[in-house]
Amino acid sequence: MAFENPKQIKGRFVNPHSNDLKRGILDFALWQSGYYNEKERCPSPPEDFSYPADITNFDPKRPSATWLGHSTYLVQIEELAFLTDPLFSSHCSPVPISFLRRRHPPGRALSDLPEINVVLLSHNHYDHLDAKSIREIHRLFPDTLFIVPHGVKRWFTRRGIKNVVELDWGKSYCKDGLSVTATPAQHFSGRTLWDKNRTLWCGYVVEFRGKTFYFVGDTGYNPVQFKEIGKHWSIDLSLIPIGTYVPKEFMQPVHISPKEAVEIHCDVGSRLSLGMHWKTFRLSDEPAERPPYDLYLAMRERHLPFETFLPLEPGESINW
Ligand code: ZN
Ligand code: ZN
Repeated sequence: MAFENPKQIKGRFVNPHSNDLKRGILDFALWQSGYYNEKERCPSPPEDFSYPADITNFDPKRPSATWLGHSTYLVQIEELAFLTDPLFSSHCSPVPISFLRRRHPPGRALSDLPEINVVLLSHNHYDHLDAKSIREIHRLFPDTLFIVPHGVKRWFTRRGIKNVVELDWGKSYCKDGLSVTATPAQHFSGRTLWDKNRTLWCGYVVEFRGKTFYFVGDTGYNPVQFKEIGKHWSIDLSLIPIGTYVPKEFMQPVHISPKEAVEIHCDVGSRLSLGMHWKTFRLSDEPAERPPYDLYLAMRERHLPFETFLPLEPGESINW
């Protein structure tokens, strides 16, 4: 496998394709003071806009994906159920901070889910690794396997969760016909002021029963990593972030716009892609309902069929 972990400098991972993540205290201060917004205008979508593609004929016996909010998807393939970055809490912060509150309830309650076999965890940011949700999953489904990137296993074992596999980029977990491979992403990590980039971030490609899905995780765009992923796999379904992209100059190194999400959709040759990382929390300056409109504009510009990249609503399911 061509993917290798990024280099570490003094114990901190460094992205191979981006030098400046714009994540210093000064960058945050500039963002919050309005510096980055001056040149940026991003209004709400037209009032009569709806994404021009419908979901029809859902069959629960076929492979499916259900958006539960933010980066949490329930993906089912035959007898296996996967959850990505499970977050069911009212806030995406260690203590309830009002501007980080959830804007819609989870698409389905944790207690209503089928037994979860595998949780895929992309990185340790609070809007992806949620202590309360992980504790509850472990209580409801003690056999759940947690697959996490390099350095994150310790967080789980400290909490008494032992069924955890830690992966480096390009490394796979294989068992009983299931293969899960950690893939590169351009992002960062950290839960405190002191642990920035000490643990890894990643996406995952999952292969089971002839089906392949790709969970992108959190990422910025670069023209290398996703094309390489596209060379390695034939991808049936991709779960791609479409929110958190304004102001562009501040967000772009570590997050993607819908336009860049479409680039990834094309780079990996995805048959169907679904949006995530929008609507649930307000983490950036674009209006909450803007991402599907920008997705529509990007798909139209590239003359791609709209039904191949959909922004699901919370709780919506689709076959793939
Ligand atoms: Zn993140
Ligand atoms: Zn995030």
